[in-house]
Amino acid sequence: MMRSIENTGFICLNCHKKIEKLTNGSYRNHCPFCLYSLHVDKHPGDRASTCGGLMAPIGLAYKSKKGWQLIHCCQRCGIQVVNKIAIDTVQPDDLQKVTTLQG
Ligand SMILES: [Zn+2]
Ligand SMILES: [Zn+2]
Repeated sequence: MMRSIENTGFICLNCHKKIEKLTNGSYRNHCPFCLYSLHVDKHPGDRASTCGGLMAPIGLAYKSKKGWQLIHCCQRCGIQVVNKIAIDTVQPDDLQKVTTLQG
């Protein structure tokens, strides 16, 4: 069976911009422009979910070890997940947009 964990570019289903893969050794799972994500993972990077719903950025969480993280809520099934903010890469997250999520 083919392992599907990979770091690839994709087209954002929310804003339709072309997103390049991360260059900081991490794994891109949300759009740096509109911050939307897709519910395709059960655990980060495994692509094991069959939901496929759009995940809206709904807030920010601060974890002392991981730094700032985005909270995403799936528009289809309602699950909430936290994702690390992408910086130190091409197309870093729009931090101005990120800070608007802060309570
Ligand atoms: Zn987008
Ligand atoms: Zn979902």
